[in-house]
Amino acid sequence: MQVRKKPKLAVWKFASCDGCQLSLLDLEDELLEVADALDIAYFPEASRKTVKGPYDLSLVEGSITTPRDAQRIRDVRRQSKFLVTIGACATAGGIQALRNFRGVKDFIAQVYAHPGYIDALATSTPVADHVQVDFELQGCPINKYQLLEVITAFLAGRRPGIASDSVCMECKRAGNVCVLVAHGAPCLGPVTHAGCGALCPSYYRGCYGCYGPKETPNAASLSGRLKVLGMESRDIQRVYRTFNTYARAFRKESKRHGP
Ligand code: SF4
Ligand code: SF4
Repeated sequence: MQVRKKPKLAVWKFASCDGCQLSLLDLEDELLEVADALDIAYFPEASRKTVKGPYDLSLVEGSITTPRDAQRIRDVRRQSKFLVTIGACATAGGIQALRNFRGVKDFIAQVYAHPGYIDALATSTPVADHVQVDFELQGCPINKYQLLEVITAFLAGRRPGIASDSVCMECKRAGNVCVLVAHGAPCLGPVTHAGCGALCPSYYRGCYGCYGPKETPNAASLSGRLKVLGMESRDIQRVYRTFNTYARAFRKESKRHGP
């Protein structure tokens, strides 16, 4: 009997905190089935055993922050048939992209006792700025069930069914009272990608945008509303300068409110 070869999965880390990779291990109830369907060939976070590429599916966590990263991501792309970026660092440059608005040398001088040893690029950028990406899964960290959907879709040879609407839509589905309208709380829900199940508004606080921009967000309009709530330009800029600060829509809007 011919044994069917399982597709090979690789999980890569660049500049990141490992939280998105852990989402895969967090799939406690489903992990055995994932391991049954895929050959987990390269996943240093989980196993010392590695199998050489090429790989059928690569999950890439983290942003590109060093010359070595920039070279390594090209190697990863060459070895991968299907490449998916996971999380805010890989899809938007992460919180470390705050340096993109200032001089990286100033940051290095403040953090490291011997800055001469640090070889960093001037910017922290998403993987898609360097190589072709087949699918981007947003979130900080990503939702493990959305990750499972991406893997399942890959195995079935179809596009992942990940909605690109806003956190507001998830609020409506959860039956939440709007914290922006009812309580005047600053909330980025109208411009933020769905995926968390409206976690923060469900606990009566505004969304701070950890899933990054939704498809075609109207951030300028939301900023107008934040102004009406009494926020100064500087504060509005800060709400966009967090985990997804370098995502195009948030970057553009934050720049409208200061350098
Ligand atoms: S609370 Fe925030 S996310 Fe929820 S509906 Fe209101 S603005 Fe949208
Ligand atoms: S900050 Fe926004 S996107 Fe992130 S968990 Fe809270 S509601 Fe969800």
